[in-house]
Amino acid sequence: MQIVLYPGSFDPVTVGHIDVIVRASTIFEQVVVGVLYNEQKPSGAFTMPERLELLRISTAGLHNIVVKSFSGLLVDAVKNLGAECVLRGLRTPEDLGPELEMARLNRHISGVETVFLAASAETAYVSAQRVREIGRLGGCLKGLVPEAVRGQVESKFHQEYT
Ligand code: ADP
Repeated sequence: MQIVLYPGSFDPVTVGHIDVIVRASTIFEQVVVGVLYNEQKPSGAFTMPERLELLRISTAGLHNIVVKSFSGLLVDAVKNLGAECVLRGLRTPEDLGPELEMARLNRHISGVETVFLAASAETAYVSAQRVREIGRLGGCLKGLVPEAVRGQVESKFHQEYT
């Protein structure tokens, strides 16, 4: 089976992530969305169980998506899953520099390849960081996070920051 690992922090999932996941699901037999647990940066706006739950709800209609957490080296996670490669989304030219460096490093240390999907024009301006900024200030997240989880995401920000 052709499996791809789409890693990220997904703190929280956005419509930009879903755009990449949906398009990848038509190319690969299985897309594993891997939520990276970073030991150096254990805290975020959403806990690991919350990020996983938001992703699972948002991808519930897609049969070939698996949502998992992982820690440690990305290339080890690729091998442990039996995946073909890593998937990353590119929004802007500025995304490209660090992504190229990471892709080349990962290939150097392991032979694991990275494939990129260009963000759709409609969602390229959406980032989880901007969602957190707007959410913390009590803004409306319509069109920025999947509608199926918008209430949950907005109420978490409401409880913690207002
Ligand atoms: P963010 O960069 O939004 O904080 P992540 O670090 O979780 O999110 O990113 C995971 C992956 O999703 C990265 O490859 C990132 O470039 C990609 N991505 C994030 N937002 C978008 C978007 N709007 N369109 C396409 N890809 C995106």
